[in-house]
Amino acid sequence: MPPKPAVISVIGSLNVDLVTRTPRIPVAGETLTSDSFTMGFGGKGANQAVACARLSRTKAQATTSLSAACGGDVEVRMVGALGDDAFAGGFLESLKKDGVRVEGVRVLEGRQSGTATILVESGSGQNRILFCPGANYEVGDGDLVGEEVDVVLFQLELPVDVVLRNMRTARDKGVETIINPAPAIPLPEEAYKGLGHLIVNETEASILSGIENPTDWNEVAAIFFKRGVNNVIITLGGDGVFYHTAQRHSESQPGKVVLANKVPVVDTTAAGDTFVGAYTVAVARSKAGLDTEFDLDAVVAYANRAASLTVQRAGAQSSIPWVDEVPA
Ligand code: ATP
Repeated sequence: MPPKPAVISVIGSLNVDLVTRTPRIPVAGETLTSDSFTMGFGGKGANQAVACARLSRTKAQATTSLSAACGGDVEVRMVGALGDDAFAGGFLESLKKDGVRVEGVRVLEGRQSGTATILVESGSGQNRILFCPGANYEVGDGDLVGEEVDVVLFQLELPVDVVLRNMRTARDKGVETIINPAPAIPLPEEAYKGLGHLIVNETEASILSGIENPTDWNEVAAIFFKRGVNNVIITLGGDGVFYHTAQRHSESQPGKVVLANKVPVVDTTAAGDTFVGAYTVAVARSKAGLDTEFDLDAVVAYANRAASLTVQRAGAQSSIPWVDEVPA
């Protein structure tokens, strides 16, 4: 019998990005011919589910396998909601092609999928974004965590009460929890108690810790440890990643930094999502007993390498690498 796959449940948003490039932003009442229009599947939840799936299987495994885990030994379940509109079918197919299981995505009758309408001014590159959460805000009140799950990954593009309730459910079931709290809003204390892994960028670290313009990441991490977090990971863009554990902190050791790889940067979109995906896969593999132990130093270095591939490519989901593209 093959070993039971590691199971990751990503409870999060699915959004459709509608991007129009325009010579300038039209004024009230004006109709303007734009330069181009593109549509892409996104949302932090879906992007991170795709990152988890690609970073635990090769493209060939995802497209050829009919096994329960859709190729590879890590099963990635997307949990969220779409509307029963023209986007839903294509979105689900696209997730499936990447090896993501979609049984947990509800398609809600008479509702619209979440959308981000993005106007990009061609000359300046400045954008204006109108986000409409749509079905994401009606994802449901039940237990979204599911059965036989090793790790649940959350973001904050769903209603915060849904996130908090399912964090509680996960903890009660003994499931490992990871949150990438974006977009950041201050969270109640209960969100941090027993939280396995907090992954934030610099802005989120500042908002959630309450420290403006932080200069010492150890000070920021100490606040999160006091609230009950076990591992604090702060991604620093082109400066790399700061990371620390409650255990080292209690032994009065400082956190560590791994520098970003020096690479030609094309577009940093989805770098954070790639980092979170690579990290989450490692946590799930060790929780499920597929890897012997969780080596935080090695995992952060690996996730940093994966994210440095994403910044060298244009696009969002399309720039996330497959596992065989990342040097081991
Ligand atoms: P995004 O919202 O764009 O997905 P983020 O703000 O959540 O990103 P960042 O801290 O900007 O996250 O980047 C995440 C990780 O991506 C970094 O920790 C690093 O590993 C990698 N990365 C980002 N920018 C660069 C860069 N310029 N060069 C190399 N690696 C980078």
